[in-house]
Amino acid sequence: TSYGFKDVGQGDKQTLVNDVFHRVAGRYDLMNDLMSGGLHRLWKEGLVSWLNPPKRAGWTSLDVAGGTGDIAFRIVEASHRQAHVTVLDINGSMLAVGRERAEKRGLADNTDFVEANAEELPFADNTFDAYTIAFGIRNVPRIETALAEALRVLKPGGRFLCLEFSEVDMPMLDRVYEAWSFNAIPRIGQVVTGDGEPYSYLVESIRKFPNQENFAAMIRHAGFGRVTFRNYSGGIAALHSGWKL
Ligand code: SAM
Repeated sequence: TSYGFKDVGQGDKQTLVNDVFHRVAGRYDLMNDLMSGGLHRLWKEGLVSWLNPPKRAGWTSLDVAGGTGDIAFRIVEASHRQAHVTVLDINGSMLAVGRERAEKRGLADNTDFVEANAEELPFADNTFDAYTIAFGIRNVPRIETALAEALRVLKPGGRFLCLEFSEVDMPMLDRVYEAWSFNAIPRIGQVVTGDGEPYSYLVESIRKFPNQENFAAMIRHAGFGRVTFRNYSGGIAALHSGWKL
């Protein structure tokens, strides 16, 4: 099944994505704020409050495509610095920024940083209490493989949460959003990083990603139970939840 996801050459796609994030790593957090008008902060808070990490030591979470550690730091803080979060990313430049931020914030003991591919997680089965991925799965060439890996490394009873751009379901907002993404985002990219081209690609990848219902079907198909989702900002982003039952 294609779930409405148009394939590009898988190897090319990963190379292109890697290239984008190597180039922007140092300015990644600024870019996020500029491109989402600060909204990504609200969406990420939504993820962490839905996850509701327990305030006890020994609870572990894996943040895949975790980049500069944004989600991981929020989870650790929400657990009153009890949780341990492993940040996994395919890109060493993003992880280096994250590691430095963890040190500065005094969160180095609660986090670790692993360079690896979401499609091939270097962990044993049944390792983590939770798996999160924010604005990452869209960039992974084989989404089904990444979902199978998520299920594998979760403990039975473990939670899967995925935040991703999705399909806008408000009549006026969709036009504004189109205009913003096709014109403003590549231009912001051009000004801040000196190159707008990679951002045109990222905007395109949002259009190709399956909508809320189709992505929920993919998660169910991967073997997760009780799959549900919430929309944010009229569907600009959606948060999908599932459980390893
Ligand atoms: N989760 C962070 C956030 O929400 O701010 C970062 C999201 S950033 C848009 C996407 C990240 O996915 C990048 O850091 C990129 O290196 C990573 N990535 C892309 N393909 C990946 C793969 N196959 N496996 C793991 N990480 C990947």
